[in-house]
Amino acid sequence: MKKVDMPLKQYIKTLKAKIFTIKNISWKSPKVIGGYIALMLLMGSGMVYLNSTTSAVYVIVNGEKVGLVPNKDKAGEMLNQILSEKGAPLGIAAKTHDGITYSSVRIENADYRALSKETLAEDISYYVDGVMLTVNQEPIFVLPKAEDGEKLLEDFKEYYTQPSDKNQVTSVSFEDEVKTQLVEAPLDQVISYEQALEKLKQGKLLKEDYTIQENDSWWLIARKNDMKTKEVLASNPGTNEDAILKPGEKITIAKVKPYITVVSEGVRTDTETIPFEVVTKTDTSLPSGQAKVKQAGSDGQKEVQYAYVQKNGKVVSQTVKDEKVLKEAVSQVIEKGPQRVTVAYSRGSGRIASGLSWPLRGSITSYYGYRGSDFHTGLDIDGDQGEPYAAAGAGKVIGAGWSGNYGKNITIDHGDGIVTRYAHSSKLLVSVGENVSKGQTIGLVGSTGRSTGSHLHFEVIINGDSVNPLNSLR
Ligand SMILES: [Zn+2]
Repeated sequence: MKKVDMPLKQYIKTLKAKIFTIKNISWKSPKVIGGYIALMLLMGSGMVYLNSTTSAVYVIVNGEKVGLVPNKDKAGEMLNQILSEKGAPLGIAAKTHDGITYSSVRIENADYRALSKETLAEDISYYVDGVMLTVNQEPIFVLPKAEDGEKLLEDFKEYYTQPSDKNQVTSVSFEDEVKTQLVEAPLDQVISYEQALEKLKQGKLLKEDYTIQENDSWWLIARKNDMKTKEVLASNPGTNEDAILKPGEKITIAKVKPYITVVSEGVRTDTETIPFEVVTKTDTSLPSGQAKVKQAGSDGQKEVQYAYVQKNGKVVSQTVKDEKVLKEAVSQVIEKGPQRVTVAYSRGSGRIASGLSWPLRGSITSYYGYRGSDFHTGLDIDGDQGEPYAAAGAGKVIGAGWSGNYGKNITIDHGDGIVTRYAHSSKLLVSVGENVSKGQTIGLVGSTGRSTGSHLHFEVIINGDSVNPLNSLR
């Protein structure tokens, strides 16, 4: 074999010479056919190159490539969709300050991954040209539309003033310094109009610590904080009215305070019931202690005009401007057998005061004694509105009616200088002069007079002074 004997360098030289002199070689030569095939392959690969790549556009957010899209139009369309979807819950289109640019490229088909709307959305930061509400210089929230500020304040005023034919509102103002101001805010700090109105209606929740005092009860703590017992219990999850309060320990008082206080003045017309009166006449033909209804009573009706001042819907002061009777009440007439009516209570030793029975079964919500700086002259027994209570002992009713802080109340003279009182009733079932027996139902529990929640305020009075009822009850 001749070629094998030839040095390698010389063989390559010979080969090159042959290629460069290709035109001198017959087309029929196998070498020419080989060269032709090589050329065809080269051109073919160029075609393959064009078919295996695609033109695309890089989306660049703040200088960083976030992905590929087919073209600029497609990218712009995606961006607009994202901005309107982000702002949709607020009823607007969101905006962005991000620098969004594009750069065209050719890329291998196999390497092309289209940028999804979701991915692009995550790479952008958003803002809203909104309106901020401040109350006493404190920012409360940002609303999405400039015109929403004034509208919100008007709607909030109306929520509390409720003007109508029967309620002529003459003035509405805010007790606080309320301002609206155009701002640019990040999207996540903007709330919808509906959410904003709801927030104003609900107010802000403030949590405070309260240190339990000697002789505190849940009811008493509620009263000190101008709250209801159930609200105090709700502030301390896991507690109930039977939970023991240890002086010195702390509990939470969660109070709701309004963001804004709406002060309104106006004239309100109410239709009210005129309760019928009970007139008792003595009929000497009847046996002593017996009674009969001579004439049934019926309630009347009146229209009362009040000039009022309200704060967030609650009346803070009012005066009667006018009163018109629509229907007169008809008195109930009762005829009774002869009976001696004692108005002043008797004086005596107070010795039977140890034999009184509980007028109502219920938990004690406040004891006799000092409540802060006030002196509580009785025992508060928890009861439901309308629950019957009984006379603690036999005696004569010496008072049955309304008196100041006691509301509807009954006093019974038991003799020997002992008097019991039953206050805050919803209804009184006995009248002055009547003799009652121990355990006899005399009234229904209520919350009239100065009272927070329905309960019976029970007092024992000996020779004109209140004493601790717990020493008398058996
Ligand atoms: Zn009381």
